[in-house]
Amino acid sequence: MPERTTSTPLITLVLDIDETLVHCATRPLDSPDIVFPVEYNHETWEVYGRIRPGMLDFLEKMSEKFEVITFTASQECYAEALLKIIDPEKKYIRHRYYRDSCVPVFGNYVKDLRILNRDLSKVVIIDNSPQAFGYQISNGIPIESWYDDKSDRELSKVMSFLETLDGVDDVRPKIDEHYRLQERVQKALAMANHQSSMSGLNNLGASLASSSTSGPGSAIASGAILGASMSGSIPGTGTGSVDCQ
Ligand SMILES: [Mg+2]
Repeated sequence: MPERTTSTPLITLVLDIDETLVHCATRPLDSPDIVFPVEYNHETWEVYGRIRPGMLDFLEKMSEKFEVITFTASQECYAEALLKIIDPEKKYIRHRYYRDSCVPVFGNYVKDLRILNRDLSKVVIIDNSPQAFGYQISNGIPIESWYDDKSDRELSKVMSFLETLDGVDDVRPKIDEHYRLQERVQKALAMANHQSSMSGLNNLGASLASSSTSGPGSAIASGAILGASMSGSIPGTGTGSVDCQ
């Protein structure tokens, strides 16, 4: 990522996309907000998407205060097609990272925030999969996975918290204090009696996640194009080795 300039907001807000800002699938969804084609592996996939309540308001307001970037474990071909609809003029999202910037660890794509070239005391990541920020738990805000609940107000809630970070020297103690994730990881670890923190995060992820509504027919294609888990990848192609065409 380019160095900060004097006009770059002090705090960088890293946003996950799938089940944090939108829910998309490669099979038809009831009343989708958006439908768009994605070229993948020499085929065109129709992707159906729903937009989380309050998403545009969230992006608009947060981009005034923070350096907003997206970091997805999904494929670039899909994410770019989606972001072209969400932020066509690139007004809100300053930089975009995709699956190829994630680190594969024990079946998860981990988003190592050190690659962002920013002071970690000034970086916040919001992700529905806490495994994704397993390398920097203190920078992470977990958000409930979203699929279709129109009464969901989680983005507005997290916005209220983010506003309290304005002007702080280090975001991490504030995040720890509010979300108590370290404490929850320790509890998940103790419960599972596992030794590694990644296992603890996996358990925490499982306990925080709502059940997926994806149909089995779309699981393979969705896994290859979308999503944070590596388990849905197309067999034989290897994780992340399939390029968008
Ligand atoms: Mg996600």
